[in-house]
Amino acid sequence: MTKLLYYDDKWLFEFSATVVSTGAFKGKPAVELDQTAFYPEGGGQPADRGVIAGVPVVDCQKANGRVWHVLEQPLPAEVGSPVFARLDAARRFHNMQKHTGQHLLSAVFLQEGFPTVSVHFGEEESTLDLSGGALSSELLKKVEEQANRLAFENIPVKVFWASEEELPALGLRKTPEVLGKYRIVEIEGLDRSACGGTHLDATGPIGVIKILRVEKVRENQRIYFACGWGAYRLLAKSYESLSELAKKMTRGVFEVTPAVVNLIEESQKLRREVSSLREQLLPQKALELEAEFSTVSGFSFLGKMYKGETEEMKKLAQLLVQKPNRAVFLAANTGSWVLLVSPELAMDLTVLVKETLFPLGAKGGGSGNFRQGGGLTDFPSASNKVFEYLKNKLGA
Ligand SMILES: [Zn+2]
Repeated sequence: MTKLLYYDDKWLFEFSATVVSTGAFKGKPAVELDQTAFYPEGGGQPADRGVIAGVPVVDCQKANGRVWHVLEQPLPAEVGSPVFARLDAARRFHNMQKHTGQHLLSAVFLQEGFPTVSVHFGEEESTLDLSGGALSSELLKKVEEQANRLAFENIPVKVFWASEEELPALGLRKTPEVLGKYRIVEIEGLDRSACGGTHLDATGPIGVIKILRVEKVRENQRIYFACGWGAYRLLAKSYESLSELAKKMTRGVFEVTPAVVNLIEESQKLRREVSSLREQLLPQKALELEAEFSTVSGFSFLGKMYKGETEEMKKLAQLLVQKPNRAVFLAANTGSWVLLVSPELAMDLTVLVKETLFPLGAKGGGSGNFRQGGGLTDFPSASNKVFEYLKNKLGA
């Protein structure tokens, strides 16, 4: 069985070991060592990365009590050979920030009546699922502030082993599922939890803890958060992006949000005005299009690309089919289209679109003498096909 060095010294980022066996893990070359500082994925904490004998370690997994270091390529060392290994220390440190930060956040959420159900650590954003119902934004703010305060107070974090008999007296937040010897992680005076992960020695190096958003997942609330380096990178990126916008708007960073809200409202108002003005022009537009109908014996057809929104296109087509024996097919360059046929032509439009437009990739629906849809890419072919179909059916 591999000796797990990170249990006793989580700051051990370089070590020597002996190759115990080589094999494969899920199709990739893997190696087992007599001892390791690599943390295998577990308890929500991601696996460590690094190198063994110069070969990149892309994953580390526990299977049947064995620790497999998954490698980018086979190791140039045989069973029994000594190897030198090095962890990606920055990644491990960030994992320790996330993990200790999560214990702290979970403890503060519990004080407010929200127990942690499960946790997951991502690259930048991590999550914890809470039971206990919905969370107000005031409460989230309060928890976030309190967690940061406790981080900045640099409270010691201790790890100790306990037997099963000692457990009840410890008042654990998270009770273990395995039987035997228990590894307890304690934030002094605040939280005790059974955990096999790697943590910091105090809350200070967690750095900033930022709650990012909340999502309802089944009956639980999922909290997205970032700690330390992850929080720093996300906040730096956000501030940079906001500053860029502020510069463009020649405003201060914190004036951007109200200014953008104003712009959105303004643009919605303008859109409504433009749309109402364009609607007033539709009868004139309809009159102009009169000359563009192709009249064959029995009916007139207009197939035309139109610059405007679907609703407007629909109204225009309605105006144009007010005269008898007409078919109007309009499309916008977004691929949306409308088709109207005068009722007295008694055309089955379901069959018409199925035979002419659908084979060209268009989609759509409607009822009676009206159809509309999208996905039209080749308007000239579509228009020709519709016209030919009508001529054929109407005996022209
Ligand atoms: Zn932990």
